[in-house]
Amino acid sequence: MSNKKRDYKHKLAHYYTTEHDAVFVEDLNVTSLLEASGNARNKAEVGWRNFSTILKHHGRKNECHVIEVEPNGTTKECASCGVETAKPVWVREHSCPSCGFELERDWNAALNIQSRGLENLGVVHSEATPVETATAVDTVPVSARRVVEAGSPALKESPKATSRVG
Ligand SMILES: [Zn+2]
Repeated sequence: MSNKKRDYKHKLAHYYTTEHDAVFVEDLNVTSLLEASGNARNKAEVGWRNFSTILKHHGRKNECHVIEVEPNGTTKECASCGVETAKPVWVREHSCPSCGFELERDWNAALNIQSRGLENLGVVHSEATPVETATAVDTVPVSARRVVEAGSPALKESPKATSRVG
């Protein structure tokens, strides 16, 4: 990974972990990418694995929870009713046939990552200290695709937009 890219990931990780109390990321399967290396998707997943590690490092430093969640079905699942609808990658909109909920594809996925993360966070808190409730925590879901894309504009967006879409 080039220094420029590494710099960017550290900046992004610093930003997320200082602006939020918790960051939820998709826990991508490392085994699958080791089995078949060489294609673009797998390179992206290596980049994401690396970013995830950087994120945890900054999380410890800035007292921010960095939580990896099960990534399966985050794009298929309806963030409103939970019904899964298969959609090919070129379909950019989530439109639920069950409840009619419509949202931009990645935003819907981000909401699912967030709710899974909050579930995990709730467990963490009840085991550790019950001082704060998960729902009161300022959180941000981060989707892998968004961060590993070349020239991701995440840092140029307003904090509001960033926390909304992830
Ligand atoms: Zn629905």
